[in-house]
Amino acid sequence: MTDKNSEKIVKTDAEWRQQLTPMQFAVTRQQATERPFTGEYVHNKADGTYNCVACGQALFSSETKFESGSGWPSFWDMIQEGNVELREDNTHGMRRVEVVCSRCGSHLGHLFDDGPEETTGQRYCINSAALTFEKKG
Ligand code: FE
Repeated sequence: MTDKNSEKIVKTDAEWRQQLTPMQFAVTRQQATERPFTGEYVHNKADGTYNCVACGQALFSSETKFESGSGWPSFWDMIQEGNVELREDNTHGMRRVEVVCSRCGSHLGHLFDDGPEETTGQRYCINSAALTFEKKG
């Protein structure tokens, strides 16, 4: 797991474009949203850790992943306090909470308060394109 006090990663768009696929770049650096049910991790049920596709920081655990029916990977908590940053997002005529990687500033998705009642009640709605999955073991 990446230390939450690790240094910030700052790169130019040109540098990110070199490193990321066009889809990964659009989502993480331009706040795009992948079409529902198209991402590679929507139905992934394996045990492991979901890391930032841009900088590798650990973001979510399979232990908090649940089937939301939304078409995007959904988690009821972040893996560790400080790894994920929340920002107010008032674009597209909505008031939403944006979910961002604290280390590299990549856009990950949005946070909603309609998660499973028996948990935190939160739903981190995350683009597969912003994640890489690291299988346990
Ligand atoms: Fe990152």
